[in-house]
Amino acid sequence: MSQSHRAVAIDGPAASGKSTVAKRLASSLGLVMVNSGAMYRAVTWELLRGGLDPGDSAAVVQALAEMDIICGIQDGLSTIAVNGRQLGAELRAPEVNNNVSKVASVPEVRECLVAMQRDYLQDTDVVMEGRDIGSVVFPDTPFKIYIDASEEVRAARRSKDGEADAVAARDAQDSQRKVSPLKISEGAIVIDSSDLTIEGTVAAAREALIQLGWQD
Ligand code: C5P
Repeated sequence: MSQSHRAVAIDGPAASGKSTVAKRLASSLGLVMVNSGAMYRAVTWELLRGGLDPGDSAAVVQALAEMDIICGIQDGLSTIAVNGRQLGAELRAPEVNNNVSKVASVPEVRECLVAMQRDYLQDTDVVMEGRDIGSVVFPDTPFKIYIDASEEVRAARRSKDGEADAVAARDAQDSQRKVSPLKISEGAIVIDSSDLTIEGTVAAAREALIQLGWQD
């Protein structure tokens, strides 16, 4: 980890509210927010576009080697382009939701994307959200937060957003995989957002950061 830049790691299951909190926290602290899930989604989207089976690890690894993945920053948020195409709303498509955990369990995919995630810290302080940010991507950062919410609340949030996403199935795959499973990393402060508003969760995250020694 770079000595000169700081990373706030926010991990948690699907629809726990971590993206929204990470975005608001980053903007209030003047840091860049990096959505690491978008990177796994982008690889998945490109595989599906090419008609490949996301469950075929060998084919996934081969296709990955030929993918041109460019991570950037725009207006304080991470961006991702694959093979020249900037990806956005398509990353939330149901078929991406259904297949992303398979792709994210392939060690070579993780290795490649974790390196890109760490690269952000060369240039800037970040709030990065995902599943393994505190445990694998930035294990040395003291600023680790884990945002949770009950399964019912998370499923309700997704359907309120109009998104078809089997969050329980995705979480089971993400928590049970061999490489970098979703877990609470050592030293992380856990926030249960089930009964909190977004503002309340952001306030709790700010308090957690101060408790962890954050200084503006
Ligand atoms: O955060 P989001 O729900 O968009 O992530 C999509 C998927 O990407 C997760 O279900 C997980 O399989 C994978 N992921 C991961 N590690 C991360 C971020 C996301 O494995 N750091």
